[in-house]
Amino acid sequence: MIRLTTENTTKAIERCKQLKPKVRFIQERQFAVSSANNANVYHVRFDVRNGEKLGQCECKASERGLVCYHLVAGATANIYRQSLKQIH
Ligand SMILES: [Zn+2]
Repeated sequence: MIRLTTENTTKAIERCKQLKPKVRFIQERQFAVSSANNANVYHVRFDVRNGEKLGQCECKASERGLVCYHLVAGATANIYRQSLKQIH
């Protein structure tokens, strides 16, 4: 899995804001993100280990260890879900 940091997510956040991919909740810490360019759907999953945020996507960029906008889109939804849980 890829460690998500402020540095390596900055560009993907910009892409994500431009493309606004659709995110669907699958199960805890797993999401399906629709590609903005084609009909592909990428599954992303997240984990937290030793306080570090980790993420993995199915796309080519993620395979090479890059943070893609799918990951950022999923992470945003994940953070939102986690914050809801803390309220309730
Ligand atoms: Zn991806």
